[in-house]
Amino acid sequence: MSQLLDAIARIVGPQGLLTGEDVSGRAADFMGLTRVQAKAIVRPASTAELSEVMKLCHAAGQVVVPAGGYTGLVHGAVCQPDDIQISLERMRGIEDLDPVGRTLTVGAGCPVQAAQDAAAEHGLIFPVDWGARGSATIGGGISSNAGGNSVVRYGMMRDNVLGLEAVLADGTVISAMNHLIKNNAAYDLKHLFIGSEGTLGIVTRAVLKLQPAPLSTSTALLALDSFDAVQALFVEAGKRLGPGLTAFEVMWANFYEPIAIGTGRHNPPLPGGHGFYVLIELSGTDPEGDPLRFESLLGDLIERGVVADAVLASSQTQAGQIWAIRDDIEAVFHYATPSVTFDVSLPIREMDGYVSALEETARAELGETMKLVVFGHMGDGNLHILLGAQPFTPELKHRIEELVFTPLQAIGGSISAEHGIGLEKRGWLHLSRTAEELALMRLLKSAMDPKGILNPGKVLP
Ligand SMILES: Cc1cc2nc3c(=O)[nH]c(=O)nc-3n(C[C@H](O)[C@H](O)[C@H](O)COP(=O)(O)OP(=O)(O)OC[C@H]3O[C@@H](n4cnc5c(N)ncnc54)[C@H](O)[C@@H]3O)c2cc1C
Repeated sequence: MSQLLDAIARIVGPQGLLTGEDVSGRAADFMGLTRVQAKAIVRPASTAELSEVMKLCHAAGQVVVPAGGYTGLVHGAVCQPDDIQISLERMRGIEDLDPVGRTLTVGAGCPVQAAQDAAAEHGLIFPVDWGARGSATIGGGISSNAGGNSVVRYGMMRDNVLGLEAVLADGTVISAMNHLIKNNAAYDLKHLFIGSEGTLGIVTRAVLKLQPAPLSTSTALLALDSFDAVQALFVEAGKRLGPGLTAFEVMWANFYEPIAIGTGRHNPPLPGGHGFYVLIELSGTDPEGDPLRFESLLGDLIERGVVADAVLASSQTQAGQIWAIRDDIEAVFHYATPSVTFDVSLPIREMDGYVSALEETARAELGETMKLVVFGHMGDGNLHILLGAQPFTPELKHRIEELVFTPLQAIGGSISAEHGIGLEKRGWLHLSRTAEELALMRLLKSAMDPKGILNPGKVLP
């Protein structure tokens, strides 16, 4: 081992340092398609240990790349062979839960699901939730400002983190473990670390905001034949369900038919043949009245011809089966590979025109083998798109990115709603951020990481 690794081993102990096959045998993405390439994985057990490690790396000019559960979708945690990966997996504890102040304090390596389970024991929820909850960590979610399935009601990670602790590139510890809802004592520094994808600091602990668990949940899958109908449903649901509307997820037929029906992995609740399928959920505090309110909304919309067909989940199991279709990202990847994955943001009223134009151009340009899948958190103005064709060359990938990203600028969209930039979208960042914004980002990066050792090459072009 090198002198640096020897010195790191003295700080973190034998459990805290992995080398050789312990590194190369580890999957580096959620599908298990790639392996970690790094000269070592360092697994500190505390913020103090990480601070000491970072002081050494800073002095040596050693590049470090933070990692959580490897479920990020933009290659943000990818290492080069000479890099050191910092894994927070030994800092995964639930430190404190305050059921009155409704806060949960966790280590950054805590899996999202474990944080949710801890909250549930007290009749509370940690409402940021997404399909990778079992593997994704709180630190990874914070660093990528993850969103997920209930953003329409509860917001993204940024809206649900009260405080955090982070270690800077030179080992300085910024302990901003705020528990207060209101704290305007100057700059709120946590926001520097939320969504900065491990380029400004390594998050080690966090204080999360919890919410009371709903006392009733009603879930339905609806089929609609036009995007105008989808919009009418969204507007009406907003009016009649108010803040009870906790999910509004749309699947285009090009998602629902191959995944719910074609894969054979699901028991399709509705037949194919419709243009759009909407998963809608009401979460409330009136177990008797809420289901009636929900049924009355759906009944009225069916009567008015807005909704063509509907299945109202009659049990939690059935609700889970409907969600399993929407969350079956693994099946989507299998179906659409080779393709490029996108998570664009755009005004809801522009979605239909944008997707139709994209489909038309892609079909004309990419030919018979073109595959397009569209779905997403429509209530948040966020669509996921997978677009591919064969043979899948680097030139084709670039052209597909151009087809998807370029039209967004004119309609006020963003190249990333929730997955972030990582390595994947650096070259397109100028479409969503001004030159002045990019210059300020570079200034921040150079002030906080002057030697450029923290996840270099990610996010900023
Ligand atoms: C099946 C599936 C469904 C998904 N659905 C959604 C969704 O609905 N909404 C959504 O927003 N995202 C979704 N995602 C992507 C989401 O961005 C990741 O799941 C998650 O945010 C990354 O967490 P992680 O712990 O796996 O981090 P990693 O993938 O390990 O890392 C992600 C990034 O964060 C950095 N990082 C990790 N930990 C730290 C830390 N402690 N300090 C500083 N930097 C760190 C890494 O360097 C990297 O840049 C989905 C992913 C999958 C696989």
